[in-house]
Amino acid sequence: MSKTIIQVEDLHKKYGDFHAVKGISFEVQEGEIFGLLGPNGAGKSTTLEIIETLREKTSGSVIVDGLNLDEAPNEIKKIIGVQLQTSGYYPGLTLVELIHLFAGLYNETIDPLILLDTVNLRDKAKAKYKELSGGQKQRFSIATTLINKPKIIFLDEPTTGLDPQARRNLWDLVLDIRKKGTTVIITTHYMDEAEVLCDRVAIIDSGKIIALDSPDKLIDDLVAGGFERPKEVKKANLEDVFIQLTGHELRAEN
Ligand code: ADP
Ligand code: MG
Repeated sequence: MSKTIIQVEDLHKKYGDFHAVKGISFEVQEGEIFGLLGPNGAGKSTTLEIIETLREKTSGSVIVDGLNLDEAPNEIKKIIGVQLQTSGYYPGLTLVELIHLFAGLYNETIDPLILLDTVNLRDKAKAKYKELSGGQKQRFSIATTLINKPKIIFLDEPTTGLDPQARRNLWDLVLDIRKKGTTVIITTHYMDEAEVLCDRVAIIDSGKIIALDSPDKLIDDLVAGGFERPKEVKKANLEDVFIQLTGHELRAEN
């Protein structure tokens, strides 16, 4: 039924003497949201950038939609969407101008307003990139990953630094993109985000995968092993209070 769209086997990456990724293996199924979780320095971005063909691996094998990274990196590039570092944008160009620019690089023709609709930024079409808020910048950078109509998109910590509403808006956007059939690989160190978004997660620590399953299964296993929270957990947290008071909906700042 489900089809493996990414297969990583015994992947290693050394930066000089430093062994950043130490033999990790995982598969991603078509249509899933797959999370790479782990603390800073765990090797998440390194792993992602190797699959994205942007970084050389030391050893191991990577297959993306049947294409071997060693043989067909350019073919892989055509079917993936990669979030560029936001510093790579021309801050003085408008969103429409930037979309035309990127579409040209991909050799695609695209209606910028329709693309901006998918990330709720149509009303910012004529705004300059530098005039956007943090959340809007992130949504715009996700829009640019969709220009070449990719089968898979890669999001590296897309919500770091965003306020709670902007984070939730971004979660909705990621869920929407998946609903349209795109596979999503996302890295995060926010566990609540992984719980809401990811079908399955790989927890990475010091370059190794130490657990890989659905969030539910990982939690159930922990509880089955006798784990109990030290004290009764409140039914809501301060973030719930904040969202309840200030609202969930998009606002100008987002
Ligand atoms: P994460 O994304 O999980 O925070 P990274 O993949 O960025 O982790 O980094 C993993 C480890 O590799 C870190 O210890 C980092 O300092 C190191 N590292 C990343 N890029 C380089 C590089 N270009 N040269 C040397 N070390 C690097
Ligand atoms: Mg990183």
